[in-house]
Amino acid sequence: MRRRVHLLLHQQPFFKGEDMPTEQALRLVDDLVDLGISQVQWCGGDPILHRDWERVIAHAGERGLNNSVFVAGIVTKRVAKILAGLPNLHLVGINFDTVDAEDFLRTHTRSKVLEQKYRALENLKEAGFHSSRIMPCLTLTKPIARSIERTLDYLVDRWGAGYIPMFVYHPIGKGADGAFTPNREEIRRAYEYRAKRLGSHWLRIGPTECGKHYCRSKFHITYDGRVLPCAVLYDFEVGNVNRGSLKDIVREESGKLCYDFEVHGACAACADRDVCWGCRANAYFYTGDITGSDPMCWKHEGVPMGKPAAGSAASDPLSPL
Ligand code: SF4
Ligand code: SF4
Repeated sequence: MRRRVHLLLHQQPFFKGEDMPTEQALRLVDDLVDLGISQVQWCGGDPILHRDWERVIAHAGERGLNNSVFVAGIVTKRVAKILAGLPNLHLVGINFDTVDAEDFLRTHTRSKVLEQKYRALENLKEAGFHSSRIMPCLTLTKPIARSIERTLDYLVDRWGAGYIPMFVYHPIGKGADGAFTPNREEIRRAYEYRAKRLGSHWLRIGPTECGKHYCRSKFHITYDGRVLPCAVLYDFEVGNVNRGSLKDIVREESGKLCYDFEVHGACAACADRDVCWGCRANAYFYTGDITGSDPMCWKHEGVPMGKPAAGSAASDPLSPL
């Protein structure tokens, strides 16, 4: 088994500002090794807000796991240096939505955070990270789409970014009403411009950053122990490591965690279905059917794109799979 896991160490004040207990995180790392997991993506919130993040991530590296750390965007010189010294840390992802100060403030509350993100990129480079090990990640919302061309130009020309994940906004949390959701034309513009800058092969994957094989080979553990197939699909919890062992949960629920079903509709007939099967979360949030075609994909205008389906915005942990 060669799978990836997203491990959410710390949840920011957006929810409650809670850490996963350190001893539990260390034990989970050992379980992952025993399960044959090969890669951990430490995500957030912001993993470097966890009180023992260095210890936990170093432990994963020492145990042979391939680590990627995804930070919200504030990386001081000191933190950059620590990251550079961690064993088996392959890349640092950093949220960087836009270069436009006005658009930035449409989705963030403090303007100085944009400056801090610029500094974070500088600090990582100064600490020794080659541009191929720094991954700027964008959440594509309606406001951010306005300046997307300038943002992509900046990241490619200034930072030599060769891979810029663009996550189409999912309607959860404060954006559950869909107000931040870009329309299909905005998504098309963003993805086509990225392909213009980074290569036409990027158009083979629809409105998601996760190709089909990635999507089906990873699972997610939250700071409070919930085990999910994807970081945004809270309705599909399959177990909780506070009530059972991770090894048992993964062994018993691997079919659900790896989406053991076929998709239908336009995604099933798509010419790019060898690498893409649409975002299962988009299908669920916007149509209520996780196996349906991805309604955000600009390649198939016939698929209706609407507001989040009733009852689909993360509420009760049911088991629709
Ligand atoms: S139609 Fe579906 S499978 Fe094809 S590119 Fe779009 S999202 Fe991917
Ligand atoms: S469901 Fe969507 S966001 Fe989640 S892993 Fe799959 S493609 Fe990515």
